Formats: sequence, structure tokens, C-alpha cells
Amino acid sequence: MAKCAICKKEENSLLKVKHKELGMVKLCFECWGIEYGNQNLLPSCGGGCDCCRF
Ligand SMILES: [Zn+2]
Repeated sequence: MAKCAICKKEENSLLKVKHKELGMVKLCFECWGIEYGNQNLLPSCGGGCDCCRF
């Protein structure tokens, strides 16, 4: 079991995402939907571009 980085809910399957403010985190589907809607999620494209630079 892992915990959602935002709501702290324990889930078996969390989505690993790159968050604009939190970095690499795991989110539940609900929070993923919210953050995606707020455009807080960055594409994890593997480097070599602006979206992967910190
Ligand atoms: Zn959550």
C-alpha cells in the first residue's frame, strides 16, 4: 500500500506523476484528476527538454 501525496489516502494503485510543485509523487485517481485539471502535472518524457529541468 502506498499513500497519495496529496490526500494521504492509502491505495493499492497510485499514479506516479511529475507534479509542478511537489516533484515526483504518487497520486490517487481523484487527486490526479484534480491536479490534471489544474494543469499541475508535467509530462515525464525522460529528459532533454524544458519540462524535465529542475
Ligand atoms: Zn489523493
